[in-house]
Amino acid sequence: MSTVIAETATSGLVEIHNVHKSFGGVEVLSGIDLTVQPGEVVALLGPSGSGKSTLLRTINHLESVDRGSVTVDGELIGYELRGGRLHELHEREILRRRTQVGIVFQHFNLFPHLTALENIVEAPLALKRLGASDARELALGLLDRVGLADKADAYPRQLSGGQQQRVAIARALALKPKVLLFDEPTSALDPELVGEVLEVISDLARFGTTLIIVTHEIGFARQVADRVVFLDHGTVIEEGRPADVLDHPKHPRTREFLAKVL
Ligand code: ADP
Ligand code: MG
Repeated sequence: MSTVIAETATSGLVEIHNVHKSFGGVEVLSGIDLTVQPGEVVALLGPSGSGKSTLLRTINHLESVDRGSVTVDGELIGYELRGGRLHELHEREILRRRTQVGIVFQHFNLFPHLTALENIVEAPLALKRLGASDARELALGLLDRVGLADKADAYPRQLSGGQQQRVAIARALALKPKVLLFDEPTSALDPELVGEVLEVISDLARFGTTLIIVTHEIGFARQVADRVVFLDHGTVIEEGRPADVLDHPKHPRTREFLAKVL
């Protein structure tokens, strides 16, 4: 208990301390520590199965942790402290805290029966954050920001994969999250559509949005990330500035991974 209190008092926007997570007796996260500062852009790299998606999901209340703690802007994920004790959060509070963390998946997960604009206004309206006309104005602004001002009334099936992913980014921004998570945002795209999505993400990075990006796009990570973090078998094996880690990896498994993807 006292360790949790001490941990929540620290300064990062996202604080991950000694996080362990198992599925069916197999440990997938084995004591992860990671602190992300406001405005920082962190690229999370590592081989398939190393625990990258699971780690992102713990930050967004989609996955509970077995041990350790995750806090976003000082608020614990999954629990709250009341009367000196940890209590599991009620579903409503989980939903509220989840809105502080945006997530963009590999497969855009847009609602197929809603237009681009309707996809974006859905959450702010459902949560009664905005009235209809303010939500519409916000969505049009976000569509403009991702270069799709002319696609407000298009349905997902009428959009390319790159355009759908840009709508998904606009949708994630609609709740003004404190941090935005990307889980291989370009992995499902045809190569010629990757650039337009990376450009939008770079733009967010430039404007100071706090980002944690799982990607195999090493060149992109080098360009936009302030820090690169390598995960392997559920632990952080190496981290640092992109130029240091990507050009002079110290850990043999980092070298092996980079040799495969570069
Ligand atoms: P990565 O994103 O780095 O490829 P994941 O976090 O998706 O890795 O998965 C790490 C390991 O955890 C994999 O072995 C995967 O099969 C397992 N895993 C992930 N989610 C679940 C789940 N819900 N149930 C059981 N096993 C899971
Ligand atoms: Mg994954």
